[in-house]
Amino acid sequence: MARDIVAIDIHVHLSDEASQKAKGDRTAQMARYFGRERPPVSIDEMADQYRARKMMAVIMNTRDETVTGMTPLPNDHVASAVKKHPDVFMAYGAIDPWTGKLAVDEVKRCHDLGLIGMGELNPARQHFYANDPRFYPIWETCAKLNMPILFHGGMAAAGAGTPGGMGIKLKYSQPIHVDEVCADFPELKIISAHPTWPWTAESLAIARHKGNYYIDLSGWAPKYFPAELLHNITTLIQDKAMFGSDWPAIGVERWLEEFAQVNMKPEIRKKIMLDNAVKFLGITL
Ligand SMILES: [Zn+2]
Repeated sequence: MARDIVAIDIHVHLSDEASQKAKGDRTAQMARYFGRERPPVSIDEMADQYRARKMMAVIMNTRDETVTGMTPLPNDHVASAVKKHPDVFMAYGAIDPWTGKLAVDEVKRCHDLGLIGMGELNPARQHFYANDPRFYPIWETCAKLNMPILFHGGMAAAGAGTPGGMGIKLKYSQPIHVDEVCADFPELKIISAHPTWPWTAESLAIARHKGNYYIDLSGWAPKYFPAELLHNITTLIQDKAMFGSDWPAIGVERWLEEFAQVNMKPEIRKKIMLDNAVKFLGITL
C-alpha cells in the first residue's frame, strides 16, 4: 500500500517516563546542554506527532550497564512501541558490547522481536573501540541477520560541560575505528551517527570509501553544519546521508526549519529526507 510518508527520521530516542528514568542524571544534563526542557512524552503522543508530520521514525535506546551500573530499559520497550504503532515506528535494539555472549544472544532476540537493527551503540559512553576483535562475534551476528548497526560518532552531548564529562571518553568515538569494521564486514551496513565533529572530514572520507558506511545528520543543529559537510552531502555522498533528529536532544521542528534554509536541489533534499533511508532500511512504503 502506497503511503504519503514525506520523511524518515532515522535516529530518535524515546523520552517517555520509563526511558527518562533509565537515563538517570543525563536527562537533566542534556536538557541544560541543549537549552530546552524535556518533559516526558508518552509513546502514544510521540507516535501522533510523527503521524501528523507524515513521517516515520526509527526509535532506539542506549545502555551502558558495564560502565555505569545503571539498569537498562529492556529492548521489549521499543518493541512494544513498534507493535502498537507499526505505521510510524521501526526500532533498533540496544546492547552493551561488554556483555559478550549475552550481547550476541540479545541481538538474536531483538531480531525475533522484530527490531530491524542495533543501536545506538555508543563507544564513548560504553568505552570500547568498534574494531576491537573481541566484539566481532556481535558484529558478525548482526551481519548474518541483516541487522544494520548505528554507532554514535564524535562529540557527545551527554556529559558535556560537566567536570569529567560524566566519564564519557571521546577517543572511542573517532569514526576511523568504524572504518575497520566496515572493511572486515562488507555485508554489514553501518550508520555513523551525527556530523562526528571534530572528525567530520574523517567520516566523510569513510563514507566515500566504504560502500557500507552511511551517515546520519542527527544531534547537531543544521545551521551549524560545517561547509565541508554540506558540500559532501549535496554532491559526493548524496546517496548516503540521512535525516535524523536525535530527538529529544534536538527538537524535530528546529531541525526541519534549519535544514529547510540550507540551499540544495529538491531531488537531493528528498534523498536525504526519505529515499536514502528507504533504500538503507530495505522497506517499501
Ligand atoms: Zn549519539
